Amino acid sequence: RLARLRLTEPRLRAFLHLPDDDALLAQARRLDALIAAGDDPGPLAGVLVGVKDNICTKDMPSTGGSRVLAGYRPPFDATAVKRVRELGGIVVGKTNMDEFGMGSTTEASAFQVTANPWDESRVPGGSSGGSAAAVSARQCVVSLGSDTGGSVRQPASFCGVVGLKPTYGRVSRFGLMAYASSLDTIGCFGSSVADTGILLHAIAGHDRFDATSSKQEVPDFQFHFVSMSSLESKPLKGLRVGLIRETIDKGVDAGVISAIRAAAMHFEELGCSVNEVSLPSFSLGLPAYYILAVSESSSNLSRYDGIRYGNQVYADELDSLYGGSRAEGFGSEVKMRILMGTYALSAGYYDAYYKRAQQVRTIIRNSFKEALSQNDILISPAAPSAAYKIGEKKNDPLAMYAGDIMTVNVNLAGLPALVLPCGFVEDGPAGLPVGLQMIGAAFNEGELLRVGHIFE
Ligand code: GLN
Repeated sequence: RLARLRLTEPRLRAFLHLPDDDALLAQARRLDALIAAGDDPGPLAGVLVGVKDNICTKDMPSTGGSRVLAGYRPPFDATAVKRVRELGGIVVGKTNMDEFGMGSTTEASAFQVTANPWDESRVPGGSSGGSAAAVSARQCVVSLGSDTGGSVRQPASFCGVVGLKPTYGRVSRFGLMAYASSLDTIGCFGSSVADTGILLHAIAGHDRFDATSSKQEVPDFQFHFVSMSSLESKPLKGLRVGLIRETIDKGVDAGVISAIRAAAMHFEELGCSVNEVSLPSFSLGLPAYYILAVSESSSNLSRYDGIRYGNQVYADELDSLYGGSRAEGFGSEVKMRILMGTYALSAGYYDAYYKRAQQVRTIIRNSFKEALSQNDILISPAAPSAAYKIGEKKNDPLAMYAGDIMTVNVNLAGLPALVLPCGFVEDGPAGLPVGLQMIGAAFNEGELLRVGHIFE
């Protein structure tokens, strides 16, 4: 993998930081010591794990893709990283991302653009584009990303890998740089559903450093896997699958719709009943998400004031120090969102925007609850199109935001969702992958992984 990483990285630019060989060896030597002492090195022993750059690592820089944190080295590991290391995983580097998770292409990184390994003229998706590209190109085995509105699932779809967004609260957010705290989750990428489940199992569970992390018991996600030879002909008999009608409608590429319809037929062959279900509030998800996300981010990002971390501009007065450090440190997408969020939260506009968006969020949550009382899982595309060209949507933020329509509702409802490759569109030199999104009931990642593994 390391040889492959070195070979492909100059073209893909998936990593913002790669430790040198000595630093990697230092991580590996810890394992050797355990093995020599006869101890179990853990289920991730020696597995190379990519970590998104907004997840803190104490031995590597963590910038969140932002110049405001250029050179910042946290004094601690995020809980998810700590658990990965305790179970034997080796952090192979920090992956590229849109600045603070704000974007869908990785083009909003302050440092570099990552290429899609399927077609290097295309984006890998975002904001966890580096983590998805790295797994897709086999630069590492699995990786961690973050998903606030689709940032694990959409890049998984664009790069043809598996991506899992856990239930809100399933994985500790301690050490994840906050974007929109009520929507943020740490998620997993793998090249198979089984890999992804093993990584989720490693990082899931209560953490006293995150008050929103859940005390729900963590089932053994690694035990759900069935051997193929033992599969009966209808292994998913009785499973009720709901295809969300609003997601296979106008505005969605024909190639994507046919891949999803083919996936629905595959579910039927496996013994499921597949019915179309309507979520009438579906299209409200985008405006509600963008109002809530920018509002929360305008508050969260106020910590980057030039005093406590990262970029500092020298000035005679405190206000100019704050202003100058931010003006220089933040990119244009981030500045735009802080402005929008501050506006939405200001007196006189709060009721019209933030409060209404919260009300819509409740409606969306209830409509998912209703649909999931009649179906075991819901399916949809993970994105309305396959990967598009680098630069194609860069100057059209609304077109880019619209591409998040398939994923944002799930964050608003706090539910888990698994994305896995389900077909291709004929485009680019090697075709482009299409991802299927499976949405489950809260804390039911185990069922998604079981069904995904059989489907795959
Ligand atoms: N593309 C969405 C946004 O820009 C989602 C980002 C994410 O999940 N971090 O907000």
